[in-house]
Parts: sequence; C-alpha cells; structure tokens
Amino acid sequence: MDFTYSPGEQAMIEEYKRQGKILRQHARYWEEHESEVPPEEFPESADNPTPLLKLAIDKEGDSSGIVMGMMVTIYNSWGDTLSMKMGPGALGNAALAAAGTPEQKERWGNTRLAMSITEPGCGSDSKAVQTTAVLDGDEWVLNGDKIFVTTGVRADGVVVWATIDKSAGRAGIKSFIVMKGTPGFELVRKEKKLGIRADDTAALRFDDCRIPRDHLLGGDETVPKAGSGGFKGVMKTFNMTRPAVGAGGIGKALASHDHVTEQLAEQGFEVDWEKGRQNRSTIEQTMLETEADLEAATLTVYRAAWLSGQKKPNNLEASVAKSKGGEVARTGPQRMIEVLGAVGITHDHLVEKWLRDGRISDIYEGTGQIQRLIIAREIFGYTSAELD
Ligand SMILES: Cc1cc2nc3c(=O)[nH]c(=O)nc-3n(C[C@H](O)[C@H](O)[C@H](O)COP(=O)(O)OP(=O)(O)OC[C@H]3O[C@@H](n4cnc5c(N)ncnc54)[C@H](O)[C@@H]3O)c2cc1C
Repeated sequence: MDFTYSPGEQAMIEEYKRQGKILRQHARYWEEHESEVPPEEFPESADNPTPLLKLAIDKEGDSSGIVMGMMVTIYNSWGDTLSMKMGPGALGNAALAAAGTPEQKERWGNTRLAMSITEPGCGSDSKAVQTTAVLDGDEWVLNGDKIFVTTGVRADGVVVWATIDKSAGRAGIKSFIVMKGTPGFELVRKEKKLGIRADDTAALRFDDCRIPRDHLLGGDETVPKAGSGGFKGVMKTFNMTRPAVGAGGIGKALASHDHVTEQLAEQGFEVDWEKGRQNRSTIEQTMLETEADLEAATLTVYRAAWLSGQKKPNNLEASVAKSKGGEVARTGPQRMIEVLGAVGITHDHLVEKWLRDGRISDIYEGTGQIQRLIIAREIFGYTSAELD
C-alpha cells in the first residue's frame, strides 16, 4: 500500500484547488438563496474541464483508481459543496451498480438516481422502514413518506427502500427504482438546513405509486430467512459510500486549514515543526494537531478504498474512515476559527460556512455513533442483535 501522490495526481490536486477557489466566488450566493437550485454547470466550467480527464492521461499507476476516486472527492470538496459541473450520478447510482441486474444497469445507468431510506420514524435504525411495496398483478404499489433525500430535487429518479413483508423485519426490505413523473410520486419540499445549503435535500411522498414489477432492484422477490445475510448484502453499498462521505468531510476541514495557513503566512507567521513541543505557541500546536488529524483521516479513507479495490472485506475500515472523516470535519474548521479569532465567524472568511457544511459528514450515511457501534461489533465479533 503506497498512497504517495504521483506527479500527475499532484497536478490534479492543484487544478482542483484552483477551480475550488473560482467556485468560492459563488458560495455565499447559493447558500443565501437556499430555495433556489444552483446551475448544474457554472459559466466557468467551459474554460475549466474536469481535471479527472487530465489525470487519466497523467496517471502513473501507483495507486488504484478507487483510491484516486477518494482523492478526487477530497479535493473536489475542498471547501465548498458546489462543483463546476454536476456529476452524472448520485447515491442511488452506487446502489444500482452494487445490486442491479445487468438489464437494470443498462436501462438506468445513464440516469441520476438519489437514494431514499430515511423516514420520519426511521434513521439510524434502517430496518425500521415503514414504506410499503405491495405486489398487485404486474405492478408494485408503493406507499410512504421519505425525508432527507440528497439530490432528491435534481435526480431523474430515486432508489427507494420499502418493505414487502413487515413481519419479516429487515429481511422484507427491498429497493425499488421510481422515476420522476410516475403518478403518485410527489416531491414534497426542499429541506432548509444548517449547512450544505447549495446541495439539494428533498422530502418525498409515495401515494399509491404504481411501478412495473421489474423495477425491483436486483429482481429478487423472495424474502430471505432471518440471518441469511440478505440485508447485510444491501448494507454493503455503504462500504464504498462511507469512505467517500469521510473524504468529503476531510475536504472541508483541509480547506479551512489551508486557508488559515495562508492567512497566517500573510501575517509573516509560519508553523515551525522543529521547535519541539515545549517551545511551540498555541497557534502552532493547533495547526500541527489539525494537520496530523487530517493526515490520519485521509489515510483511513485511502485504506478503506484500497481494500475495496482489492476485493477484500472493508466493513470495519469503511466505518473507521467515515468516523474519522466526520470527526475532522467538525474539529478542523472549529479549531481554525479559534486560530482566526473573532473574525473567523464573520462572512469575511468562509471557514464558518465550512464548519456548518462539514457538520453533515458526521450524520448522513450513518452518524459517528453508529460508525463506532459498527467498529465495536467488528472488533469484538458481536452481531447487531448483541450490540445495538
Ligand atoms: C443533509 C442530509 C442529507 C441526507 N441524505 C440522505 C439520503 O440521501 N438518503 C437517506 O436515506 N437519508 C439521508 N439523510 C438521513 C441521514 O442518513 C439520517 O439523518 C441519519 O441516518 C440519522 O438518522 P436520524 O436523523 O433519524 O437520527 P436518529 O437515528 O434518530 O439518531 C438521533 C441520535 O441518536 C444517535 N443514535 C441512534 N441510535 C443509536 C445507537 N444505537 N447508539 C448510539 N447512538 C445512537 C445518533 O447517532 C444521533 O446522534 C440525510 C440527512 C441529512 C441531514
């Protein structure tokens, strides 16, 4: 395992940072106009093609593509939630890739799919899904309310978790693909939030919403016996998305760190690593601790991704990465505000915004507490029934 950046990757990082700085000019507008939806492509995007294309040519083969994907996520979220050009996929596409049949991947692979699990009474405990799907002839009929659906406004469709048999508990939960425009599928509202206000988060309703039978993701209509691992299989989608959410949190914390480093340099202050602990100022100590936390969190993300790329189990590592990324997203900007002082919470700097934007990294895709539960189960060999 070697996560040293190649020259091509370093060039790409610089390009993402350069583009990130352009996007910062739009950041305040879109957070202050939360009811609007930002453009899918910013005017500058034509002059700033996605750096990924460049890297594909420069790549020297010293890290797997999946680790590189995490690096892209860190630097693509280097501060703001806006991207120069919105990507083609969303979270539901990861579920389609993980669980869809070849026909389903072919049919919906080029659409943007959100992922909808959470309900008013179902969050961390994802097996508590109340939305139902009942087979009626050759159609599924969906009923239920969903909340906090990332990209729910802009997506073409959504992967919805619903139960086909409540008495079967988690074994009865299946995923369904429902496209926008299907009668009975309503976009209820766009949520208002503390941070990531430019990112759309929707509430959805399914009211006798009929979809064809073959919209069941993976096509398996059977309810597996309890303990057969069917639900665990569904949860595996998270083993790739959790490190990515950690990476997004790291990006915001890193942006705060880098911004404050620049601010300090402008005042002629540079952190000296060589001074020794007892001779450092509080500012130096704070900067060094933040840098160390960022490095540690980044390595956990790369390790989880690397394992996935090697087709090795990464349940534990994915949760460590999510937990560390979520933590540094909270503590990093917080510490940088302390270094800036009072001005840190004004609109003169974006650090206060990145603090608010980063808070979600420790909530969605499973809160920090839930990640630590998973880590404990993995280390001590407990089932979810034994440690809940
Ligand atoms: C901006 C945003 C975007 C989102 N995007 C999506 C999305 O695209 N799709 C989707 O399906 N969901 C999405 N969510 C929902 C998100 O995944 C949930 O909010 C999250 O899983 C937590 O669920 P909850 O809010 O119901 O909290 P709860 O489960 O009610 O938890 C409340 C608190 O209790 C703690 N807690 C709960 N159980 C335990 C336990 N056993 N041990 C210790 N502590 C515990 C939690 O950590 C948390 O601090 C999004 C949420 C937000 C805010």
